[in-house]
Amino acid sequence: MGVDLGLDLIVVGSANADLVVAVQRRPGPGETVLGSDTSVLPGGKGANTAVAAAKLGARVALLGAVGEDANGELLLDSLRAAGVDTSLVRRSQRPTGVAYIFVTPDGENSILVSPGANSALTEDDVDLADARVLVASLEVPVSTVEHAVSVAAERGIRPVVNISPMAELSAGTLAALDPVVVNEHEAAQLLGGADVDPRGLLDLGPRSAVVTLGARGALVIDANGTQRVESPQVEAVDTTGAGDAFTGALAARLAEGSDLVTAAQLAVKVAAISVTRKGAQPSYPTAGEIAG
Ligand code: ADP
Repeated sequence: MGVDLGLDLIVVGSANADLVVAVQRRPGPGETVLGSDTSVLPGGKGANTAVAAAKLGARVALLGAVGEDANGELLLDSLRAAGVDTSLVRRSQRPTGVAYIFVTPDGENSILVSPGANSALTEDDVDLADARVLVASLEVPVSTVEHAVSVAAERGIRPVVNISPMAELSAGTLAALDPVVVNEHEAAQLLGGADVDPRGLLDLGPRSAVVTLGARGALVIDANGTQRVESPQVEAVDTTGAGDAFTGALAARLAEGSDLVTAAQLAVKVAAISVTRKGAQPSYPTAGEIAG
């Protein structure tokens, strides 16, 4: 009903415990493989995005769901430690979402996500506080994200959606987005091919689009044209959660009133720092670290 929590940003998305195990090789069918000790880390696209924005000083709330279990406490503690408002995080009877992440010596990850409580985030939970920007990703039900976007648009809250993982959004939802954010693979899926002009993303309806290009930075596409934003050159150690860092920083800067290119210039800086450090949330820089 538009409660005033004094927010810049509402993030609609997942919170997962990341269970990370190093393995020599992935188990084949019927096979058992021994791995390293398990690291239990706070993750999930929604929680990561909220933490990235909060560390930059944005006033941000996560609208999400966790279970009544130890992983739920881990996520809530991590969100609060970063300064994220957790008053819109629902406690579900379902277990907190878990990502089982196997890391092999070649640096490749195999990930299995058990969404748990994230699947229980429904349209009825979408009770948006006042904010400038809403940013959503798709590890929660598509219907919940679509409803949140339509309520945001009605209320003058700028909707941003990172279509990750890939999901089919209605034409009405796509038309409200400013911008839609995707990585290169997701852009190719939306455009129906890798060699297609990225301006075609605007034909799907959004007012603007941002395509992240890994170490090459990002493309900003809007009515003014297409602009490439270069990434700082860094030695990448761990790219986990880089896209979420990018989206959180982009949304935080849009909420301050910056234009899209200026916001993307901050986002590539923040995401580049995040890939030089291990983990997702712990790798995100504070405003102080990116100043200057
Ligand atoms: P995702 O992580 O969602 O697959 P990308 O790989 O495009 O998306 O990464 C998101 C953003 O993270 C990029 O736009 C860039 O700013 C930053 N990034 C990712 N990899 C690197 C890298 N190797 N060096 C510098 N920045 C990176």
